[in-house]
Amino acid sequence: MTAPRSPGAATPTELPSAVNPAQLTIAELRAAYASGDLAPADVLASIAAEIDARDPAIGGYLSYDLELALEDAKSADLSLPLGGVPIAVKDLINVKGHPCSCASKFLSGSYTSPYDATVVRKLREAGAIPFGRTNMDEFAMGSSNENSAIRPCRNPRDPERIPGGSSGGSAAVVAADIAIAALGTDTGGSIRQPASHCGIVGLKPSYGRVSRYGLVAFASSLDQCGPMTKTVADAAALLEAIAGPCGHDSTCLETPVPRYLDEIGRDIGGLRIGLPGEYFADGLDAGVRQRVEEAVGTLESLGAEIVPVSLPHTEYAVATYYIIATAEASSNLARFDGVRYGRRADSEDLVSLYGRSRDEGFGDEVKRRILLGTYVLSSGYYDAYYLRAQKVRTLIRKDFEEAFAKVDLLASPVSPVPPFRLGEKLLDPLAMYLADIYTISANLAGICGISVPCGTVETDGSHLPVGLQLLGPPLGEAALIRAAHAFEVGRPTG
Ligand code: GLN
Repeated sequence: MTAPRSPGAATPTELPSAVNPAQLTIAELRAAYASGDLAPADVLASIAAEIDARDPAIGGYLSYDLELALEDAKSADLSLPLGGVPIAVKDLINVKGHPCSCASKFLSGSYTSPYDATVVRKLREAGAIPFGRTNMDEFAMGSSNENSAIRPCRNPRDPERIPGGSSGGSAAVVAADIAIAALGTDTGGSIRQPASHCGIVGLKPSYGRVSRYGLVAFASSLDQCGPMTKTVADAAALLEAIAGPCGHDSTCLETPVPRYLDEIGRDIGGLRIGLPGEYFADGLDAGVRQRVEEAVGTLESLGAEIVPVSLPHTEYAVATYYIIATAEASSNLARFDGVRYGRRADSEDLVSLYGRSRDEGFGDEVKRRILLGTYVLSSGYYDAYYLRAQKVRTLIRKDFEEAFAKVDLLASPVSPVPPFRLGEKLLDPLAMYLADIYTISANLAGICGISVPCGTVETDGSHLPVGLQLLGPPLGEAALIRAAHAFEVGRPTG
């Protein structure tokens, strides 16, 4: 833990009971506040103690600042929708006065946020307390959290395995009950895939639903921030708080935010759910397939109508994503020049200052993406790669438009495989990229998606979580939440 710590903080023994408050859902915590059983300062101190005791074996947090959080807690208005609720924040979302390292040597130890991201401002307006900075793949580039330049993060369900990425820390701390809920970001699956691997709920909003102001940009036409929670109702509560217009992000839509919590408990009779054949093809682990097919059976038994659909351009999604995302990343990461932010290398002249700062500050995967992205944007290759990828992106979006003309939602696996062992795919970037096959199209098309736990598969004695992915049309979050909640409570357990 590299945290700034608060000396003499309250200890968990002051809590009225021995319950770890981070086990609670947002709804349960609010009830405990309302009844006077818990108070925000005790909850924060207690979670800090849980983090100190258990996070060293997980690596979900990069830092936390109890003193600042206790300061926030003093003015917490418990009557607000998230009053006094601590929320862990992925370490690429700016929270004023806190470090924001993006799990990169470039920023770690040398950058403190001068302002709140809009999502953080909105969280505060809803009464929440940002608490703890979660581990991630460096600059959100990765699917396993192994690209963190600070330290690895492990899957709390099996510490030999990856938690997924890039929001691996956010998923791990919620799953391990060392956070009540967290924010993550999703550029190609980084909320849904770690949520699936750790057995929690993760929702990627439609592009434009949530402001990107104050998120360190990876690929600006794909990035979205969203909730990672223990329940669908908690995801609805968090989304309701962070969604909506923002004067600092011109891509953020003015469309009013529906009351997502009203969807909780609504039935799904007559809802049409499409099954894209391409998402159940070769390469899908047999155990994962079985869990997802059972989940589809549950949705049907709850009254949904299941309809086969086709997304014919799926096979081009990975290639398209890795051209567009790297192109945008190479441009966005140009700001890390050794002059304006974070690390500055010793050097005699400006050109070597840029070069050395970037060479020392960026890890291998980030460099790989910058090289790829610069190449596809270079004048001789722009038409062959970037322009063509944009055209294919349009085809992928049209696939979804056609599907959503027939159905309300789509159902699929999140990841083709259960969480793999640390190190297993590290030397094979292509194998790592292919693990994003079912998640990246949603980002290319700008649609919304959620991962909901749908059971486990047994591998080498471990029970590894599997997520059901539901996808909805742009701004279709309400139906997504309704169906995900109906599934969550209607699913046979055991
Ligand atoms: N795994 C994908 C990548 O490495 C997606 C990452 C993300 O969504 N931030 O780019």
